[in-house]
Amino acid sequence: MRIAVLAVQGAFLEHEHILGRLGAECMELRKSSDLRGGFDGLILPGGESTVQGKLMRELHMFEGLKEMIAGGLPVMGTCAGLILLAGRLSNDPNTYFGTLPITVRRNAYGRQLGSFSASAHIQGLADETRPFPLEFIRAPYISEIHGGRQAFPIAAIGRMPDGSQGENIVGVRCRNQLGFAFHPELTGDDRCHKMFLEMCKHNFR
Ligand code: GLN
Repeated sequence: MRIAVLAVQGAFLEHEHILGRLGAECMELRKSSDLRGGFDGLILPGGESTVQGKLMRELHMFEGLKEMIAGGLPVMGTCAGLILLAGRLSNDPNTYFGTLPITVRRNAYGRQLGSFSASAHIQGLADETRPFPLEFIRAPYISEIHGGRQAFPIAAIGRMPDGSQGENIVGVRCRNQLGFAFHPELTGDDRCHKMFLEMCKHNFR
């Protein structure tokens, strides 16, 4: 199993460490020729989506990756990576891959709640009843899931970005795509990555 990690900016090393622990081979995507390396899955890490989007375009990786994701390559986007996948950003005129049918609001938690921890059950994880620790850092908020039954929530917390109580979806699955508003690579719990590696064995084409 060979997993590519977008490595132009952000928290890509943490993902590589977990993948290494789980016995997956990693390769970093830094330039367009890396896209020809052959890989079974793709991780889009946290960081700054605007910077990552700009660099992918400048480095001529954007169109190739978009085609691969649209063609069924398993992908896991975390935080900024989720923003790169989202079909619509409610507070930003940009969109990037736009392959995941959700609307997302960037930096939704304001300054005070910029970073916080929580936990949630995540559908599809090994030992599903054991909550998964969630770390949020200037996280996006998933305000809507579109696309019929193909896209569905797999994790939620009980607090909305404004601090009120409510169902706040923080994880989404749509066929070959997995999107998290939090950072599973920062918690020491590798079950999200395990679930992703299982997805990478499937053919979504
Ligand atoms: N605030 C970042 C963005 O909008 C995402 C933060 C993160 O990845 N930790 O791209």
